[in-house]
Amino acid sequence: MANKCVSCNNCGHTGWSENRGNFLITIVLAIFFVVPAIIYEIWRRTGLGVCESCGSDLVVPSNSCATNKPSDVGDLIILGVLGVAGGIVVVAIYALAGSAINAYKNRNAPEPQLSQRDLEGNCLRSGMSYYHKQGEYPILKDGKTLALDQIQKDCKGSKDGKYKAP
Ligand SMILES: [Zn+2]
Repeated sequence: MANKCVSCNNCGHTGWSENRGNFLITIVLAIFFVVPAIIYEIWRRTGLGVCESCGSDLVVPSNSCATNKPSDVGDLIILGVLGVAGGIVVVAIYALAGSAINAYKNRNAPEPQLSQRDLEGNCLRSGMSYYHKQGEYPILKDGKTLALDQIQKDCKGSKDGKYKAP
């Protein structure tokens, strides 16, 4: 963290250092890219910081600051807000990536395969409604064949689950 007691080799001032860089840049970065804003803000706070009087980074540590160290509360609030925003962005990116991956997977997923049993079941149902419509249910026109027997025979080994009348 900056806020160190430093003496400046540029202007000779001794005092509490300020964060290097510019908070405005953090704001602009945060509007567009939260993660670089956090990295930039962390970079601002590393090292000795810059002279509070002239802004030079030619500072060396000192222990002769006359005033009290400025409060870090503002800094902690900024880092907290950026941290929360960064967390939200990371979660959102994960969610987006997850749904993108799922969409991709689903695109490539094969159609669910119906078993032979399913196909024959579908065929049986469409066969029954076929003979209902024909008025040949439950006995066919010949007066002796059970419609269901005929359908079962015709549906054996059905390839598409559709009933084909003989
Ligand atoms: Zn200075």
